[in-house]
Amino acid sequence: MSTQEQHITILGAGESGVGSAILAKKMGWEVFVSDFGTVKPRFAKDLRDNDIRWEEGQHSMDEILIADLVIKSPGIPDTVPVVQAIKEKGIEVISEIEFAGRYSDAKTICITGSNGKTTTAMMTYHILKKGGVNVGLAGNIGESYAKQVADDEVNYDWYVLELSSFQLDDMYEFKADIAMLLNITPDHLDRYEYKMENYAASKFRITQNQTEADWLIYNADDPTIIDLVNKHMPAAKQAPFSLKKEIELGGHANSKQLTININDQLTMGIHELALKGKHNTQNSLASGIASRILEIRKESVRESLSDFVNVEHRLEFVAKVHGIEFINDSKATNVNSTWFALESMENPTVWIVGGVDKGNDYSELDALIADKVKAIICLGKDNSKIIEAFTGKIETIVEAGSAVEAVAWGYRLAKKDETVLLSPACASFDLFESYEERGNEFKKAVKLL
Ligand code: ADP
Repeated sequence: MSTQEQHITILGAGESGVGSAILAKKMGWEVFVSDFGTVKPRFAKDLRDNDIRWEEGQHSMDEILIADLVIKSPGIPDTVPVVQAIKEKGIEVISEIEFAGRYSDAKTICITGSNGKTTTAMMTYHILKKGGVNVGLAGNIGESYAKQVADDEVNYDWYVLELSSFQLDDMYEFKADIAMLLNITPDHLDRYEYKMENYAASKFRITQNQTEADWLIYNADDPTIIDLVNKHMPAAKQAPFSLKKEIELGGHANSKQLTININDQLTMGIHELALKGKHNTQNSLASGIASRILEIRKESVRESLSDFVNVEHRLEFVAKVHGIEFINDSKATNVNSTWFALESMENPTVWIVGGVDKGNDYSELDALIADKVKAIICLGKDNSKIIEAFTGKIETIVEAGSAVEAVAWGYRLAKKDETVLLSPACASFDLFESYEERGNEFKKAVKLL
């Protein structure tokens, strides 16, 4: 393709936008980057260093609309006026992954789902790397895929890519050699006209363009996924996993043992897995299956599944203070992830919940709350929905306006051999900059006890 005089506009100057700009420039496009907000200093520096034209705090429509192709940051919804104007003009809009994929020959393992993407992507990457595969990691994690594709020093045979539904929405020609669909539960419905079917369809795009040479790894216990598989009959070879039934080609686990049936059989004890909880058994199954498709030695897969170190802010043990255990699950930003956190609690739990609600139905937690939770601490600006949902079900419900206050309440309400769990089921933006800041402040407050 001759792209000498072709114009590309990139909306959003974050990790993916700046990576795309660098790749586009290298490939001969005339590049313009536009960000309506403020561009972080390190990204501004990258743009300057690479001699790329950019703007912040505005969208100059005359510049933007001369583009032949637009790359849109996954954070920008289709409904904003600038995207509407671009689409009205008939300009093609794609995501960073789609763009970078057009310039890469590497094979990909693409991971999506409502929860567990980062954990499973990092676990898969860990197994492959230790197994001797020349593999990179990108998507919503670390350095962008586009930037790595642009880098001449980097030449991976495989990439593990974490893909959100927003990335998938703007992918058309891209194909995963191995696709992983972990679960589909309500999240981000505000971006999908509050229709679960729209969100689910977006996740299922992970299977698009796959042929019978490719693989689809999916959660066979998830009714939404099963419906989609039955309806669309994907062309790829199927390797499901289940915690409920045995799977001939794929993997399964019960409370004692995990089994993977791909290229021979691999078994290991559940207690040998590095990450605890049923959700993590599912994540281990999914990454184990992918690794066996790549024919990583069974012994090596077993070892990696048992020495993997979990990612921060995901059911992270913080400290034990006077016999009270504190756990940071700040990354739990929807009801389903909190469900799995509560499910894995073994002691009576004081639960810290709250923040920005994305349309939560708390009643899904009722049975677990009755079983595991002794008190609730609301950590948010507006806690009325949570208080209403649990009044009459839990005797003690208090409110906190900061992580320090929440930890102080937790310390007061929990006894020895009990747990204080931060698993908010909500986004963090009312009181914190991000879920990372929320988790870090929680950990800092615990360490000060
Ligand atoms: P994502 O990248 O999809 O947001 P993470 O791996 O960051 O997922 O985990 C997000 C939250 O979901 C954490 O609270 C984690 O404990 C929980 N979680 C991890 N894996 C799963 C899973 N398979 N099902 C449900 N919840 C999960």
